[in-house]
Amino acid sequence: AQAALFQSQKMETIGQLTGGIAHDFNNLLTIIVNNLDLLTRHVNGARETRLIESAQRAAERGARLTQQLLAFSRRQPLQPTLQDPSTLIEGFENVLRRACGETVRLTLSLPARISTINVDGAQFEAALLNLVVNARDAMPEGGELTIALGETSVDDQHAAAWSIPAGPYVSLTVRDTGLGMSKEVAARAFEPFFTTKEVGKGTGLGLSQVYGFITQSGGHIEVNSEPGQGTTISMLLPAHGDERGASDEEASPDTVRPA
Ligand code: ADP
Repeated sequence: AQAALFQSQKMETIGQLTGGIAHDFNNLLTIIVNNLDLLTRHVNGARETRLIESAQRAAERGARLTQQLLAFSRRQPLQPTLQDPSTLIEGFENVLRRACGETVRLTLSLPARISTINVDGAQFEAALLNLVVNARDAMPEGGELTIALGETSVDDQHAAAWSIPAGPYVSLTVRDTGLGMSKEVAARAFEPFFTTKEVGKGTGLGLSQVYGFITQSGGHIEVNSEPGQGTTISMLLPAHGDERGASDEEASPDTVRPA
């Protein structure tokens, strides 16, 4: 109990220290990433393009690190809005593709018609990017990465086991053909600061951010991994009616107001 208390105090202190710094860094890095994005559209030379892309990857890595620290320090309250998950993912597809590098083949399976989800868009992007980077790191020789959206319904029995309400859910699955995890690693993978990566490469905060984001959004997450076979991260997020329903809601706010 003493050790657990010390551990939680340590976490609290690290959280407070990092939260403030990470917040400011995140804003600065967002500017860098956005400006580099704009710059790539005006540059033609192969060498210049390569230099910009390398700067982009570095800035995105920095942004991911600060996002993870922010999520960990809980300085970032979730700001959920109703979104079409397919459109949401398409919006940052280029970021995901860049993170994959040259050797990992990314396949997106995004249904044209799917229920909306009520999530914080920025945190959703950060979570998916964390999963993509993990998958890429697990496939040093290249491989296949699949991100798929779907719809499912959770029955009473599963709902009770997962501590979520029964009902309709949007499923998000991230599957790689990488190195996989041992049972021991899989059991600890969601722990903050647990990493098997060398110093400077891993923070151990990626999956804990994803876990926090999914559970705070009312969802469920699990890992299935087989050493040498690959890893599948399966997530469920509560479904909120279909696309059309959502845009009807958006169109309804009172446009006619008495002066
Ligand atoms: P980090 O990536 O910084 O190490 P994470 O919390 O994202 O932190 O992951 C924790 C650990 O879980 C990783 O160090 C790795 O051992 C394992 N892991 C996560 N995702 C995968 C994956 N797709 N394939 C194999 N191992 C993984």
